[in-house]
Amino acid sequence: MSVQTSASPERGDFIREIVAADLREGRHATIVTRFPPEPNGYLHIGHAKSICLNFGVAREFGGRCHLRFDDTNPTKEEQEYIDAIQADVRWLGFDWGEHLYFASDYFEQLHEWAVVLIRAGKAYVDDLSADEIREHRGTLTEPGRDSPWRNRPLEESLELFARMRAGEFANGARVLRARIDMASPNINLRDPVLYRIVHAPHPRTGDAWCIYPTYDFAHGQSDAIEGITHSICTLEFEDHRPLYDWLIENLPVPSRPRQYEFARLNLTHTVLSKRVLLRLVNEGYVRGWDDPRMPTISGLRRRGYPAEGIRDFAAMIGVAKSDSVVEMGMLEHAVRNVLNRRAPRRFGVLRPLRMVIENYPEGQLEEVDVINNPEDPSAGSRRVPLTRELWIERDDFMEDPPAQFFRLAPGREVRLRSAYFVTCREVVKDAAGEIVELRCTYDPATRGGDAPDGRRPKATLHWISAGHAVPAEVRLYDYLFARADPGTDGVDLFADLNPDSEKVLIGCLVEPTLAAVPVGETVQFERLGYFCPDPDSTPDHLVFNRTLTLKDTWAKLQAQGRQDA
Ligand code: ATP
Ligand code: MG
Repeated sequence: MSVQTSASPERGDFIREIVAADLREGRHATIVTRFPPEPNGYLHIGHAKSICLNFGVAREFGGRCHLRFDDTNPTKEEQEYIDAIQADVRWLGFDWGEHLYFASDYFEQLHEWAVVLIRAGKAYVDDLSADEIREHRGTLTEPGRDSPWRNRPLEESLELFARMRAGEFANGARVLRARIDMASPNINLRDPVLYRIVHAPHPRTGDAWCIYPTYDFAHGQSDAIEGITHSICTLEFEDHRPLYDWLIENLPVPSRPRQYEFARLNLTHTVLSKRVLLRLVNEGYVRGWDDPRMPTISGLRRRGYPAEGIRDFAAMIGVAKSDSVVEMGMLEHAVRNVLNRRAPRRFGVLRPLRMVIENYPEGQLEEVDVINNPEDPSAGSRRVPLTRELWIERDDFMEDPPAQFFRLAPGREVRLRSAYFVTCREVVKDAAGEIVELRCTYDPATRGGDAPDGRRPKATLHWISAGHAVPAEVRLYDYLFARADPGTDGVDLFADLNPDSEKVLIGCLVEPTLAAVPVGETVQFERLGYFCPDPDSTPDHLVFNRTLTLKDTWAKLQAQGRQDA
């Protein structure tokens, strides 16, 4: 697999070309797509690619897109997932209108069609066990062998299938198989299983059924029932397409959908598999499905990623037919672009260091005007309180600075953003030698951040008035997996988890306006990155997540690449 680094345009992908041609040449008057999640986990960013494609194509070509739950495996599916999936699709900005469907709504029809196949001699009940069926299936180089039950009389299959439905047999005792071709070079056509016995209550049909259709039997027929014109799925289903077509051709379905395959999204430093994500949740590696480190849509939302950033990312990566791995930096780039335009700038101090301005009058309070977003003049400005005692970032001061350090140091003058120039006069330490306070003076002539004599400090710092600062917990996030391709080279996937993926800082301080930022909004802490309130936040205990730092390494590498080329 190649690593995809540069962006490819959304328009003109092969799916959109097919759809445009079908409309132009009159094969369809309206196009109908669907997004078909199995409710066995939360949606992840890979699903977002599929959602943007299916809903996006429908929107662009004046068609419609259905949301259909592929709920055919009751042992793994839950109502919680059904609800979360709907919330996530809506949050991403898409709407299925009244077209919400469940494969389980079609169980009666699917069962009828299974009987049609049996009557036509195109399906049979097989008494072999799952292991035996696998043994008989053959390999890529060897043909399969017929089951001894393959040629049983069709009346017998009809009767056994009825008894399967009636609940007479245990799980796995029998299955219904299509009767196609055990010698087919395509293993999917070697009499695939259509129905299996599963004695388990279903989130929607309850105890009505104890036999359930397989994905292969349910999917295409559900598409046909709904009048789907373009059934878009990922590449691993390419080899299933002949079976998809065989079932459509051999059943009295009301329409003829066609399946098209595109490359699934793979991202560096994470894993896009509900099975693995479920383990991360169940085994306590993360705070839950919506942990800000998770590649789930709910995790990205909790992390502070705006839906627009995710949609932009989907447009950047495009839709292709060969597998590739996309750099996480590209998703972060898309999100930064949106946040840079939209996020209000605020002051937050992660590791506070006290600063006393000795010549600033004791008890004086003034409000300085601070611009909310230099990228967006319409965002206006706000008033920020300034007093004699402030907090600054500990990292912004060095007692003995190296040549490349331009921020505050003894005897040096810097600018406090939108306020005044200050000069460090004295460093106060505690008994352990730890710096606890800086004694500074300010130049009253520099109010607003400019000196009448034109002198310009090399650094501008953020700050918070000590009497007004609001305490907060801040959670810093990094990649969930340390290496770009976790779980490869024979390493256990879970051994590649990044031990520093979450760092919790307590004793951080933020400006007063940040107490009022609602969950779902992301701001920029000036000079530090983008942050958003976590749902764990309460009025008494603010919690912020770091969405992203400000540094866009990906964009930089792209620019360098263009220069080198
Ligand atoms: P997972 O492997 O994570 O369990 P899945 O394919 O089993 O995913 P489904 O609920 O069956 O999950 O997927 C719903 C739709 O989303 C399918 O059409 C599937 O092809 C698509 N999809 C799933 N993962 C990706 C991905 N990484 N990139 C693009 N589309 C995806
Ligand atoms: Mg699946």
